[in-house]
Amino acid sequence: MSSRLDLHVHTTASDGLWSPAQVVHEALARGLRYLAITDHETTRGAMEAVALARGTPLEVIPGVEISVGGAEEELDLLGYFVDPTHPDLLRLLEGMRAERVGRIQAMAERLARLGMPVPWERVLELARGDVLGRPHLARAMVEQGYVADEAEAFRRWLGRGRPAYIPRRPVDPREVLEIIRAAGGVAALAHPGRSGLPRDLEGLWRAGLVGLEVFHPDHSPADVTRLMTIARIYDLVPTGGSDFHGPGPDGRILLGAMPVPEHTVERLRERCPR
Ligand SMILES: [Zn+2]
Repeated sequence: MSSRLDLHVHTTASDGLWSPAQVVHEALARGLRYLAITDHETTRGAMEAVALARGTPLEVIPGVEISVGGAEEELDLLGYFVDPTHPDLLRLLEGMRAERVGRIQAMAERLARLGMPVPWERVLELARGDVLGRPHLARAMVEQGYVADEAEAFRRWLGRGRPAYIPRRPVDPREVLEIIRAAGGVAALAHPGRSGLPRDLEGLWRAGLVGLEVFHPDHSPADVTRLMTIARIYDLVPTGGSDFHGPGPDGRILLGAMPVPEHTVERLRERCPR
């Protein structure tokens, strides 16, 4: 089953393999109507995609994915319909990107101590965009022959609690929700089936959380059913997307592959502050 929209898409501006132009091109080829570019901690890819899709049947929704929480609990928030140039948002993202560089560098040092040095210049090269992430480190590890694929790199070394893992500096989700709102957008909680539901979902909801990502490739049918119920209880808009980072190891392209209802876009738009 597929749909005419995808609300969770990464580009080379963060850790995706495809440029905004490639993603927009593919979305048009697949007849998509809506595409939200939700890069990690940058709106550069979204801005580029918005400009590229102008005058086509595709509407690009400027978005962003922001990691919040800290050592005990990590969550990802998706912002939709944000002003990609809003000064408060840009300031927040810039600070977070700088922190990411330090964290990934420290993780690379751990890997070296574990007998798996990766050339730092190569990691930077793999991060063609401006946002460094663990997948870049994982790709460098694959190249060095330490692991068979990115999944193994995360499972054995880079994942939460693994030997080379370093937790993020805590970021208050309420502060991020406020900035997304100030930038004219709405926020949804990303892949709660994978990250787990926050202990204080009610607190996030009170702080202005609007959506819950229900449809995601990592979610089982049971997750979808359970999350739909939670969305109904809290009156959250069920959202979804493929969390596209490029073609999968099997070459499959999941862009637009999640069964997200088309009215989701209008439901989110309606909740944007004016
Ligand atoms: Zn994502």
